[in-house]
Amino acid sequence: MELKSGVPSNPIETSWDRHKFNLKLVNPANKRKYSLIVVGSGLAGASAAASLGELGYNVQCFCYQDSPRRAHSIAAQGGINASKNYQNDGDSVYRLFYDTVKGGDFRAREANVYRLAELSMNIIDQCVAQGVPFAREYGGLLANRSFGGAQVSRTFYARGQTGQQLLLGAYQALERQIGLGTVKMFTRTEMLDLIVINGKARGIVTRDMYDGKIQSFLADAVVLATGGYGNVFYLSTNAKGCNTTAIWRAYKRGALFANPCFTQIHPTCIPVSGEYQSKLTLMSESLRNDGRIWVPKKAGDKRPPGQIPEGERDYYLERRYPAFGNLVPRDIASRASKAECDAGRGVGETGLGVYLDFADAIQRLGRNGVAERYGNLCDMYERITGENPYQVPMRIFPASHYTMGGLWVDYNLMSTIPGLYVLGEANFSDHGANRLGASALMQGLADGYFIIPYTVGGYLAGTSFEKVSADAAEVKEAEANVAGITRRLLGAKGKRTVDSFHRELGKIMWENCGMGRNEKGLQEALRLIPSLREEFRKNVRVPGENEEFNQSLEKAGRLADFLELAELMCLDALERNESCGGHFREEYQTREGEALRDDEHYTYVAAWEFTGEGGAPALSKEPLVFDYVKPAQRSYK
Ligand SMILES: Cc1cc2nc3c(=O)[nH]c(=O)nc-3n(C[C@H](O)[C@H](O)[C@H](O)COP(=O)(O)OP(=O)(O)OC[C@H]3O[C@@H](n4cnc5c(N)ncnc54)[C@H](O)[C@@H]3O)c2cc1C
Repeated sequence: MELKSGVPSNPIETSWDRHKFNLKLVNPANKRKYSLIVVGSGLAGASAAASLGELGYNVQCFCYQDSPRRAHSIAAQGGINASKNYQNDGDSVYRLFYDTVKGGDFRAREANVYRLAELSMNIIDQCVAQGVPFAREYGGLLANRSFGGAQVSRTFYARGQTGQQLLLGAYQALERQIGLGTVKMFTRTEMLDLIVINGKARGIVTRDMYDGKIQSFLADAVVLATGGYGNVFYLSTNAKGCNTTAIWRAYKRGALFANPCFTQIHPTCIPVSGEYQSKLTLMSESLRNDGRIWVPKKAGDKRPPGQIPEGERDYYLERRYPAFGNLVPRDIASRASKAECDAGRGVGETGLGVYLDFADAIQRLGRNGVAERYGNLCDMYERITGENPYQVPMRIFPASHYTMGGLWVDYNLMSTIPGLYVLGEANFSDHGANRLGASALMQGLADGYFIIPYTVGGYLAGTSFEKVSADAAEVKEAEANVAGITRRLLGAKGKRTVDSFHRELGKIMWENCGMGRNEKGLQEALRLIPSLREEFRKNVRVPGENEEFNQSLEKAGRLADFLELAELMCLDALERNESCGGHFREEYQTREGEALRDDEHYTYVAAWEFTGEGGAPALSKEPLVFDYVKPAQRSYK
């Protein structure tokens, strides 16, 4: 398939402004005649639904939680980037653009990234106007801290709960529209299929999570803002409900899936402690501003950290990357931790951990100074591990965290299905092969507040819409499809729990398509996944009925999709014979163990097309062109 990104011509500095001007407009009085569906009420979905409602469209917004404000965005801790340059330390739109393209290892679209850097400024203004309580300096200006992959301080934050505060802002804006009647909110309603009529996205099929009722909703365009698929690894920092269902089912209706293997492993999470754990906890990257990462120099050194003298410690990030030190990007920090643990220098009972030490920071800032910046994170760590991070260093290890891959979208954020838009973590758009810290919140809000309100209008004004009815054959077929999936899951009546299958899938993925990948492992995963999927279909036990609140049924439906997506991820990872960002193919590394890209053959977005059950997905390639930031070996030394 030919992928038309619709990127405007250069100069890049004016691309978005010119593009906005060229987009058709919907007359204010006509907006109420259009209906839009927004699936998702996290930062991307809530900001989109609120902005579209404010413009006067008829919006229906859906989420599976009991309230829009419980979306997973609420978990975001560390902050949100913006190139305001309040610190006067050399930041600019261009520098944020440059850092993001480089941080993504030259696998993102330049024009999208430039627009994101530009819009970062508007986001902060918008959120401040909403009353988001960002941290401030003594003089009243908003405070900033540093995140990985940048040598300036551009991360705005609200202690360790930035996502929660930003989401409260977006939620208020959404509630205002709900109150005004422009947005109708459907909570505990899960989208299970997309309705495509005459080649255009025209609605969704949902299941009411309380009573199992299957229902269709029709509209002129559909926006998916359904988050990331990191839970394919079972253990991840994501909320337990995060899933791939909405985008996966849209993929099966014709939306191409881009770069599915580009997943992010975050370097600073609380290490796994046992077989029965079902969730991992992130320790925000912001901690790397003041915490120093180290391991004992001697392999197998089991002394408590306090008994290891300074001279016998290896601050390996500071040693290997003196320019960025502890603030190297996540992919690099994660691989470096793994290398230390593989070499036997890991700490803690399992040996799968490294220290994140605040002793120096406490000496410099005092205990209260550290508590002021990271108090809630330290409390959380102590509650989970029983260790006091003010007294002994935290133990951390990498974990699955974020997915750069997602549905392919053009510059307007429209997928390959006309009228289907994809925002936030659910799309593939801006982060290439590795997302820089504090850039996901920025992207979700840029998409929702500042991009979709323009681009969806351009589509509506330039498209003629046939009348569609709830009796249309396509609607009935999609409803029957959803009913069939549910029936099959409940009907298997096997012996194994959903979680036992998910745990097994997670292990396969972590071992073969996680921090390090190689051809042999990927081939092995491609052999194991279909047979696990087959066993799941025959032998899963889903207790209860459809017509009730049934969390096992919800989980089973989501896992069924993960079991298919996992295969596509491995296929994508196998096809990309290079290392870039979070995609580290062990066969392709420099002598120093860094990712070795192959720009000649792989400077493209890999977009996969569903070709029918049992058919091999078809690969299309969107070539990437770098007119501004010339691809080079990433160096943080
Ligand atoms: C622990 C943690 C900390 C993080 N900290 C930061 C940070 O400091 N800075 C940063 O930039 N990024 C951070 N991130 C990443 C960031 O939080 C996410 O990428 C971002 O919040 C995703 O927002 P979203 O709106 O795309 O999706 P989400 O917030 O995940 O929202 C998804 C929405 O879709 C709905 N949904 C999903 N599927 C369906 C369906 N089938 N039917 C109906 N509704 C559906 C859900 O109900 C929800 O409302 C962090 C991530 C984690 C896990």
